[in-house]
Amino acid sequence: AKNVGGAGSLDGESNPADSNNLRVKLVLLGDSGVGKSCIVLRFVRGQFDPTSKVTVGASFLSQTLALQDSTTVKFEIWDTAGQERYAALAPLYYRGAGAAIVVYDITSPESFNKAQYWVKELQKHGNPDIVMALVGNKADLHENRSVSSQDAQEYAEKNGMFFIETSAKTADNINQLFEVFWAFHSRVYAALCA
Ligand code: GDP
Repeated sequence: AKNVGGAGSLDGESNPADSNNLRVKLVLLGDSGVGKSCIVLRFVRGQFDPTSKVTVGASFLSQTLALQDSTTVKFEIWDTAGQERYAALAPLYYRGAGAAIVVYDITSPESFNKAQYWVKELQKHGNPDIVMALVGNKADLHENRSVSSQDAQEYAEKNGMFFIETSAKTADNINQLFEVFWAFHSRVYAALCA
């Protein structure tokens, strides 16, 4: 499959005959407990071609999404599984990632601060052309909201990120996260190559 997302190639090759089948390495970051694993499971469960295996300290899942224009994109999703605590390992984890999803919990200002820390890390150590999404999860807990959508949106815009609020619990905006983020990612790449 043709690889998209800068240095994201795992096999080092792109096959022109297969240019309708794209793939991207996507890393998930954010404080422990914000719902990263639940978001991925929500997205992957019950859909085409979920495969799962455990690597050293990180879990890996892939999910293929069929797009309207008859192309498909395979997300190779890396969940840190707690490795985010070991800052020294982080650059290994980001390496080759074309996209990153940075998650916080809308009821936790600390997790929003932590998300900003991860954005800076990615800007420092990730691919220079990595495309990032900021995700405010647990949107179902709006009664306990303590991070405003507007603050998060402004922060995302300032950093060239896609922004969305989700609930892994109710499945709200989970598919949209991947579909709309993918469209955003493609636009950023089109602009880079123009
Ligand atoms: P991770 O450490 O970031 O991977 O977080 P997990 O996916 O393990 O989720 C941590 C906890 O948050 C679990 O108890 C989940 O049930 C809960 N959780 C995850 N997503 C949501 C959500 O959208 N809404 C609510 N209310 N709880 C959630």
